[in-house]
Amino acid sequence: MSEEQTQSTAERIKQERQNAVQPEPFLKAAGAVKDTGDEQKLAFTDSFAERVAGHIEDLRTEAIGVTDIAQLFGAPESEVLEKDHDYTAWRAYNTVYNWPSEGALVFDVATDRALREIESAWDDVPTNQRFMIAQSLRSFQDWCLFCDGTIDFNNTPVQSCCSDRQVITLYCADCDRRFLEFRMEEDQGVDMSS
Ligand SMILES: [Zn+2]
Repeated sequence: MSEEQTQSTAERIKQERQNAVQPEPFLKAAGAVKDTGDEQKLAFTDSFAERVAGHIEDLRTEAIGVTDIAQLFGAPESEVLEKDHDYTAWRAYNTVYNWPSEGALVFDVATDRALREIESAWDDVPTNQRFMIAQSLRSFQDWCLFCDGTIDFNNTPVQSCCSDRQVITLYCADCDRRFLEFRMEEDQGVDMSS
């Protein structure tokens, strides 16, 4: 039995709280993001953008599998299952996570791999926070790392990938991959400081 399996949920949550990081200083110290000095504030470092793009390239020929999701969420493979939805969704432990496109999932797995290579402490960051950081980083593409196209906001409300809710989106204007959704009512925006 693996260590994770013998841990109770309460123990896991407690440990996760203790290991929470401040995303911005953590990512800067790892060399993943840098200050830009303009209103955009933060961007990928060139070397990190290259690393992520390299993993995205690898993932063109590899299907995302249980191993990738288990690694992303720090869960044993037995606790990971692909959900049978018409959008991209996986369960890790008792939580179902969804992505606004297969590309968004590929991006998260690529980011996870890239951060793992440069920062050993990434593996200790709590699972939910890791997912949140990966989501935030989807907005850091200066151009689409899949097709070199233009990343854009669509301010016209559209239906969410994964519910009846109306959302505005961050997407690639060229390949149409949707990377993020923002709720209309209460802004669930990307907040690197929380
Ligand atoms: Zn694109």
